[in-house]
Amino acid sequence: RLTSVDACYRSAHRRAALRAALRGYPDLERLTNRVVQGVAQPRDLLGISAALERTGEIGALVAHLVAESDLAEAASVYPLDGQGLSPAGEVVETISRAIVDEPPATVAAGGAIRRGYSAELDAIEDSVADAKAWVARLEQAERERTGIRNLKVGYNKVFGYYLEVTKANGEMVPADYIRKQTLVNSERYITPELKDREALILNAAERTQELEAALYRALLGEIAAHATSLLATARAVAHLDVYLGLAEHAAAYGYVRPEVFEDDRLEIVGGRHPVVERLLPSGALFVPNDVRLTAEESVHIITGPNMSGKSTFLRQVALIVLLAQVGSFVPAQSAHIGLVDRIYARVGAQDQIAAGQSTFMVEMVEMANILNHATGRSLLILDEVGRGTSTYDGISIAWSVVEYLHNHPRLQCRTLFATHYHELTELAALLPRVRNYNVAVAKAGEEIVFTHHIVPGGADRSYGIHVAQMAGLPRAVVHRAEEILTELESGDERLPTPRRIREPQQLYLFGGVHPAIEELRNLDVMSMSPIEAINKLYELQQRSE
Ligand code: ATP
Repeated sequence: RLTSVDACYRSAHRRAALRAALRGYPDLERLTNRVVQGVAQPRDLLGISAALERTGEIGALVAHLVAESDLAEAASVYPLDGQGLSPAGEVVETISRAIVDEPPATVAAGGAIRRGYSAELDAIEDSVADAKAWVARLEQAERERTGIRNLKVGYNKVFGYYLEVTKANGEMVPADYIRKQTLVNSERYITPELKDREALILNAAERTQELEAALYRALLGEIAAHATSLLATARAVAHLDVYLGLAEHAAAYGYVRPEVFEDDRLEIVGGRHPVVERLLPSGALFVPNDVRLTAEESVHIITGPNMSGKSTFLRQVALIVLLAQVGSFVPAQSAHIGLVDRIYARVGAQDQIAAGQSTFMVEMVEMANILNHATGRSLLILDEVGRGTSTYDGISIAWSVVEYLHNHPRLQCRTLFATHYHELTELAALLPRVRNYNVAVAKAGEEIVFTHHIVPGGADRSYGIHVAQMAGLPRAVVHRAEEILTELESGDERLPTPRRIREPQQLYLFGGVHPAIEELRNLDVMSMSPIEAINKLYELQQRSE
């Protein structure tokens, strides 16, 4: 598939021509299956014809592509050799001989079969046409024969065809007229000849319908006999559409052809997340990143601030591998993909409360599945395993998962493990195949800038409070969190007691500015609503108690 995608990728103008030829291409597979099931209507057959007629053009383009792309392999790759793209001229010819240019929606409506297709049907139609013409001429002929100038020929469902003469002209009615119905001002008559024509016309309608249905059934059978080749064509065109779609995407978004090998290396240079790079706000550039996972460096522990791009990085690596293995080009500068047997992902948080599973339980069930089923050829992306429980439980689980992955003979697979447990970076010193990476941050004064660059080494901070502030947590909460963090980081890892919680505020009273004053200063009063102002005032008052 990569070879075929490549062939399409290399020739921009053939690609455009192919796209034009494929635009609006009928769903040949579905139409063929309708024929096989005997439910296809005449317009479905025209759809098949339209598809087949285009197939010739598509086949020619494919032939050019193969010749121009100069890829010997491409010629052997189905369907770029044009196999399955036979124009199926026989089917097109049969359909055009049998079906009129603008058939009705259903065969039952009549008139779908083209003249010349069946002599029997044509003969019936001819005799009906003759009879109708005779009836059409009758009015004039009888007026002349009888001298009744206002004589009319009419038709209704109850009596069929009749001749109508007003009572005033009653005496001029010839002897061969048979009276059928008397109205207030007129009499209606029939003649044996008129009744003969009527019978012919009415019977013919029924016979035509039966004959058309039989001819149509036979026609479907004839086309169904070509089903195998039609379905092969449909399949070939569908494949071509896949190659073309992938090639167009690769050309539009700067993807490269990955190299896929049987080894266990995974090396991506300048990899990008195919979706995030497209959805970034205008002006923002996606920062490409490299990854190199090998048998010697199979587990990467990735630390770094919240919002820095860890999850994006993990997913982009998995997506690039997936794209490469489905035969697509990939968003990177270059990619060496050692085949993986499966991609296992433990990302995000979700519960299944209806199924009796909490968020953490779901996380652990997924983790258990991965540890029990992954192999040495799998790719694992594990995002913040163990965060859904207490800190110590979480670290312990995460630590032991990494050890297990690293040491178990069945596993030892390529793994990206993103975490906020900075303690895990110590594993790199203890286990030979574990490496630390982190997402670099730059500081501009007080501001933290996420560079989104993955660099070697471990991080020691998550800047979670900074991100909380960016997200709009109340200033008081952010402020207090900073105080508690300082306390915790001072070495005493017990959580603050209520008494200790108040201490820093007392200090402010004597030393610096009271936090409430600080907060008042920082208020953007002009952008507050009266209600917000009252709430703020109330909140400050509560705090001063
Ligand atoms: P957390 O630890 O809080 O879950 P994270 O480190 O996993 O955060 P992501 O969720 O991957 O961070 O990324 C946060 C946002 O940063 C993304 O939504 C994306 O907009 C942006 N981002 C991530 N990676 C890049 C990149 N390489 N280039 C540009 N923007 C990026």
